[in-house]
Amino acid sequence: MTADTEQPAGKPSPNDILVPVSKTFYIETFGCQMNAHDSEKVIGTLEHEGYAQVSDEAEAGLILYNTCSIRDKAEQKVFHRLNEYKRLQGEGKRFAVIGCVAQQEGERIFERAPYVSIVAGSASYRNLPDMLARLEAGETRITGLDDRQTEETFDTEFTVRSNPHRGYITIIEGCDKFCAYCVVPYTRGKERSRTSASVLVEARRMADQGYTDIQLLGQNVNSWRDPSGRLSFAELLTAVGSTPGIKRVRFTTSHPRDFTRDIVEAIDATPTLCDHIHLPVQSGSSSVLHAMSREYTRDWYLERMSWIHSAKRDISITSDMIVGFPGETDADFEETITLLGAVRYDAVFAFKFSPRPNTPAVGMPDTISDEVKTERLRILNDRQREIQREHYARHLGQTVEVMVESYNAARGQIVGRSTQNKTVNFTLVPDALEPPIGSYLPIRITRTMPNCLVGESIAGALPLQTTLQAQPFVVLN
Ligand code: SF4
Repeated sequence: MTADTEQPAGKPSPNDILVPVSKTFYIETFGCQMNAHDSEKVIGTLEHEGYAQVSDEAEAGLILYNTCSIRDKAEQKVFHRLNEYKRLQGEGKRFAVIGCVAQQEGERIFERAPYVSIVAGSASYRNLPDMLARLEAGETRITGLDDRQTEETFDTEFTVRSNPHRGYITIIEGCDKFCAYCVVPYTRGKERSRTSASVLVEARRMADQGYTDIQLLGQNVNSWRDPSGRLSFAELLTAVGSTPGIKRVRFTTSHPRDFTRDIVEAIDATPTLCDHIHLPVQSGSSSVLHAMSREYTRDWYLERMSWIHSAKRDISITSDMIVGFPGETDADFEETITLLGAVRYDAVFAFKFSPRPNTPAVGMPDTISDEVKTERLRILNDRQREIQREHYARHLGQTVEVMVESYNAARGQIVGRSTQNKTVNFTLVPDALEPPIGSYLPIRITRTMPNCLVGESIAGALPLQTTLQAQPFVVLN
């Protein structure tokens, strides 16, 4: 290991005794699906560079920490974790901090945790092979922080997916929307889309490997624009959904500003496109939406909802909401509550506002007490739960197709997921064969809850509609 971490640019000095980096790595990942999938690509890149993944940090030569800065006090949590790593530095391990907090805190990480060797934001991951080579050459302060203006995406054929049936494909990276509360445009750089050809090649490769369920990812997935000019977003959905062997296609997260009617038409026309749209609204009040720089109004959002409500298929709608944004009055909050009733979401992920570093909202007077925010969050969640209790009841007696995900031995149930992204806990008809994980089968719904459906398989006759090999059950403890 280089003894001198105070070398100006982190270069090894001639007097340093280099200890080779042990080519094993351990990765910890926090945050959203984009981060989870970034880690899958980072793992694939490392393995291609000759590194082997281990499941215990004690066995790793390189420890990577893929960070998320969305939640409150994210930076503090990262530095706290790095402090825990400190005890491992004497064992010759190297450390890399990657992801949003890495981009946000930059070289400050080296100051506070001098045993860290790599600090890199997601826009720099395509340079990982070079960073690893420099690490192996003994450099101690390697950064990948200057790429937020890059036009390039991190396309790699070496992705190591953790689930053998359902996989992600990132189609667009970064964000140009600059909502007042959000760090993403500062941490993930500007929007850049992959070509339709490269997305479709990856979808076909996944289908050939036995994947049947693909989720297209982007911070604003429907802002995707084909750099080759061939396909619109709705046409890309149809094309991915038409890939032989693919049974389900989802996409997340959509932005209302880029939500066009042809997306609903594509879902209506293409059976493999899932009956589910996640369309974050954030607030039901036009004045709060304006303060958030969301650049749409309540009515404009509701018009998009009316397109979805009038679709031929029963499309499930879910959303994200923030309560207690600076300036949100009781009347504004009431508009959020009435919006819940107007849309009748199947799920809402609601959070109390907390200012994130370097965002415009930091400068807004945050006059709403935490007590009020907490109370508004409780009211919202209670109202939404009532709606879900009523709304989920529409499935009673229906037969839905589920993809088998796991087996709950304690409850004697199998856990599956419907095309609407709902959890379905079910039992088999007597003497039926256990369905393999990743297979599909029809389930009759016998009971509904606010967050899941309960049912029973309607046929003991398997095999199922799947191209997959039989796999043992995952038994949940
Ligand atoms: S659209 Fe807004 S909330 Fe979503 S990633 Fe971009 S800035 Fe953040």
